[in-house]
Amino acid sequence: MIAGMNDEEIKEHHDTEKEIKQKVSELAKMIKESKHCVIHTGAGISTSAGIPDFRGPNGVWTCRDQKRALPRGKRFKEWRPTYCHMAIVELLNQGLIKHLVSQNVDGLHVRSGIPLEKISELHGNTHKEYCSKCGKEYFRLFETRNAYSVTDHRTGRKCDICGGMLFDSIINFGENLPKNALDKAFKESTKSDLCIVFGSSMRVSPANSLPVIPVKQKKGKLVLVNYQKTPIDKHCTMIIHSATDLVMELLMNELDIKVPDWEEKLTEIIEEQEQELKKKSEEKSKEKPKEKPKEKSKDKSKDKSKDKSKEKPKDKSKEKSKEKPKEKPKEKSKEKSKEKEKK
Ligand SMILES: [Zn+2]
Repeated sequence: MIAGMNDEEIKEHHDTEKEIKQKVSELAKMIKESKHCVIHTGAGISTSAGIPDFRGPNGVWTCRDQKRALPRGKRFKEWRPTYCHMAIVELLNQGLIKHLVSQNVDGLHVRSGIPLEKISELHGNTHKEYCSKCGKEYFRLFETRNAYSVTDHRTGRKCDICGGMLFDSIINFGENLPKNALDKAFKESTKSDLCIVFGSSMRVSPANSLPVIPVKQKKGKLVLVNYQKTPIDKHCTMIIHSATDLVMELLMNELDIKVPDWEEKLTEIIEEQEQELKKKSEEKSKEKPKEKPKEKSKDKSKDKSKDKSKEKPKDKSKEKSKEKPKEKPKEKSKEKSKEKEKK
């Protein structure tokens, strides 16, 4: 992974208004003709939300390399999904795109209402922590990361299901990507016949290898919307050097799509999560104390003639099938993959 960039790489390029319009009209055509369009997003789509990017002329790493004061973004509590985030939600709702791959950890895509199964967050989500033991994921309204050292991901909270330590989901440089998200992103990009990159300088691997897949397979196109040149420019069918919000607005006009206003979706996800946990704990408390007394009372009071050996194994197997196999295989595989990632 590359942190520093030279002046030419940092330099922004601006297409003329006419060029942008022509290109967007072409892009709209490509989207309509595509069968499996996948969007890839980077920090550039969140800059208008007041979150600084990394490698722009005033990005965090550019400023650090040039020994300038680091850019000041909006405070966490003020972060909101942008027009571009909401347009992506509507493109998904209308079936014009099939999946979203994001390198952003700001969680704005999830907050905008992208269904969790339609997004691969390659570098984690600041609102998400997971159990180090059983893999259960938890969404929070607050920033989950509060560890002091870079490699420490403990959040200090514990899993409601198994009591395991919870870890934040943020991926730092040099750390492995979450296996499930990466696998899904790879699968969707491989299926894709059109990948569109919005607001990424595509300098982080392996995220930058994914949108190139359809072109390399010679069965798809790649369009990039970014101010700066990128290492994958040579693979692009079309490059639009412009602001992501502007391109998205023109694109929505071209496709005649109305972009919905933003409503917080994270609270809904958290409510569902809490209901699910409540259900689980109720199931657990029902299973344990109630079934056993029944067995005993049946055995004692009712038919002594009935074969006891037939009853007991039945109940036990029911108990087991209710409690264990449903969850454990999933949890184990997650556990393993997470363990591997950390190594
Ligand atoms: Zn757990």
